Amino acid sequence: MSSADEKDGGPLSPATRLVGAGRKPEWTRMPDRPGAIVSPPVWRASTILFDDVAHLRRAGQNTHEAFYYGRRGTPTTWALADALTGLEPEAAGTMLYPSGVAAIAGALLAILKPGDQILMVDSAYDPSRSMCNGLLADFGVEVVYYDPLAGAGIADLITDRTAAIFLESPGSLTFEVQDIPAIVAVARARGIVTLIDNTWATPLYLPAMALGVDISIMACTKYIVGHSDVMMGSVTANARWWPRIRARAYGLGQVVSPDDAALTLRGLRTLSVRLERHRTSALAVAQWLAARPEVAGVLHPALPSCPGHAEWARDFKGSSGLFSFHLAGGGEAERAAFIDALALFGIGYSWGGFESLALPVDPEKHRTARPWTAAGPLVRLHIGLEEPDDLIADLERGLAVWRDAMAG
Ligand SMILES: *Cc1c(COP(=O)(O)O)cnc(C)c1O
Repeated sequence: MSSADEKDGGPLSPATRLVGAGRKPEWTRMPDRPGAIVSPPVWRASTILFDDVAHLRRAGQNTHEAFYYGRRGTPTTWALADALTGLEPEAAGTMLYPSGVAAIAGALLAILKPGDQILMVDSAYDPSRSMCNGLLADFGVEVVYYDPLAGAGIADLITDRTAAIFLESPGSLTFEVQDIPAIVAVARARGIVTLIDNTWATPLYLPAMALGVDISIMACTKYIVGHSDVMMGSVTANARWWPRIRARAYGLGQVVSPDDAALTLRGLRTLSVRLERHRTSALAVAQWLAARPEVAGVLHPALPSCPGHAEWARDFKGSSGLFSFHLAGGGEAERAAFIDALALFGIGYSWGGFESLALPVDPEKHRTARPWTAAGPLVRLHIGLEEPDDLIADLERGLAVWRDAMAG
C-alpha cells in the first residue's frame, strides 16, 4: 500500500480510492519531462523492445508490471488491475480476463486438480453451473451443490477431498444472501479455499476479502464498466493464492485489449456515484412493487422478506440495482405481455449499465440442492440511472397490461 492510500487515522474510503487508483506516476508521466496526464494512456503492444541482450535476459525474471511481452500487459492493463486490487485492502493482486466467465474459469483452473471436490452454491450464475458440470467434470473434479442458506451447516458436506467452496451472494436470479463469515470460518479451519462471485455488490458494497474470502471474482462487464459496451472479468486474490492465479492466467494465455482496459478504468472512476443511484432507485422501485396486488413477492436483499436479509444488513454496505419479483399468477404468456408492454426497460442479458432491463427468469430449471418453488412467474429487473418515478409509471402500465392478459 502506498502512502497515497492512507490518511491520518486509517485507510481512505473506497470512493476516494477510486479516484487515485492505478494512477502511478510511472504510468502517467514521461521520465524527462515535467507534468503528468490524469488517466494512464492506452499502450498497445505485442513486441517489447529490449535495450540490449542483458536487459532481455533480466526482463524474463520478473514480468509483473514490467515490460516483457504484450501478453504480460502494458501500463494500461496494469493500471486497471492495480486499481481493482486497491479496492480490497487484503488483496495481493488482480488478473484480468476477457469476460466474467473467463475469470471464473481462470480461478477454478488455478486452484482445482483431478480428484478434488468443490462445493458450489445452488443459486450460482447459470454459466458457472455449466462450467462445473462440463469443464470441471471433464477434468475429474467432483461438484457438490449446496443450499445458499447453509451457513455453518456447510461443514456437513465437507470430505477430505473438498478443496474449494464457491460463493455467490446474493444468488443470481433468486437473491438469497449467504452467511459468508460462517462459511469462511468452516473453510479456514480445514484449509479449504473460498471464492466469491462479487459482481452484484462489488467491493464497494461487499468487502468480501475483509470477511476472509480468499479470492474475489467480478464480471467487470456489469457495474465496473457500467456502460454496456465492454466485456471484462477480474480475479483478485490474497497473498496465499495470488501467485497461482497469476501463473495459471499466464499459462492459459489470458489477455485483454488495452482499449477495453482503459474503458473499464474509466467506468471504475464513477462506480461510487452510479452504485448509489442504482441503490436508491432500485430500492424505491422494489418497495413500490412490494405494495402492488399484482406482485406476489419481491426478492431484494435490502427488503426484510428476502432470505438472508439479516446477513445482508450485517455484512453489506449497500444494495445494487438488480433484483427479481414474482407476478401474482399467470404463466409464460402473461409474463411476456407484461415485459413487452414496458417502454423504458430493454429486454436483454447482462446488466450493470446505465439503462434499465427486464428479463423473464426461471430458476427452477437450474436448482438441485434446494429446489425452487415459485409463487408465480419471476421477472428480473435491472434499475438503471433513469428517474425512478418514470420507471414506476412504466411498470404500472405494464401491470395494467398483465391484468388485461389475466382477465382475457
Ligand atoms: C454476467 C455475470 C457473469 C459473467 O460475466 P460475463 O462478462 O458476461 O462473462 C458472472 N457472474 C455473474 C453474477 C454475472 O451476472
